[in-house]
Amino acid sequence: MIKFHPDPEQLSLYVQGGLTPVESLMVRAHCDYCDRCSKVVHEKTVLLGEKFASENVLAAETRAVHTSTNLSAIFDEIVKSPASNAVPPPKKMPTTVELDGRRFVLPRTLRKFISSVGNWSSLVGKVWQAPVKLGGAQIANLVYIGQHGEIPEHTHKGVETTLVLKGEFKDGINAYQPGDYIRMSGTDTHTPYTDSPQGCLIFSVLDQPLQFTCGIAKFINPFSAVYFR
Ligand SMILES: [Zn+2]
Repeated sequence: MIKFHPDPEQLSLYVQGGLTPVESLMVRAHCDYCDRCSKVVHEKTVLLGEKFASENVLAAETRAVHTSTNLSAIFDEIVKSPASNAVPPPKKMPTTVELDGRRFVLPRTLRKFISSVGNWSSLVGKVWQAPVKLGGAQIANLVYIGQHGEIPEHTHKGVETTLVLKGEFKDGINAYQPGDYIRMSGTDTHTPYTDSPQGCLIFSVLDQPLQFTCGIAKFINPFSAVYFR
């Protein structure tokens, strides 16, 4: 069962379009798993729509007339158009990513980025990482932690937002399952690991490189900006 959700304020901002594109993406992907947040988003969207409508009755009516006129013109155009102008059906979108023969189905919201997933690289031990270009300079990471694998203890210069896609992991603070949405900031230190036989696949976004805090830190910190952006 999902235990970790975006907070109510984040859901409100999401509905109002007040989140960054990446934050918005993470909330939407969480909603692919979470009926509870989907319902909240739906209710907030309806409320916002009603508020907007009541504040702009006249404008809304005017728009409705225009929309109706526009739709009727578009419909006429479609009817008149020869069939050869018909839009071809969309290509079937891939739904899975692969690592070492394992296939992972991604939630609907993330599927459009499958063609932007870079090569997997072994990070430490049983931890694998593949960059995902989100557009512009934004890069997320798919991270796979194999059974008994562990990401060294680290803290965050900025905010790390993680969505669990498959399997489970623990971090010495909590246990996380598919759909769980985790936001970590500079005050949080954790060591994600999994003892799940199937390992764990997560989707992670950072606005600053991770800061490793012990042991292997000396080795890995110079590379953290490269591996975990
Ligand atoms: Zn939720």
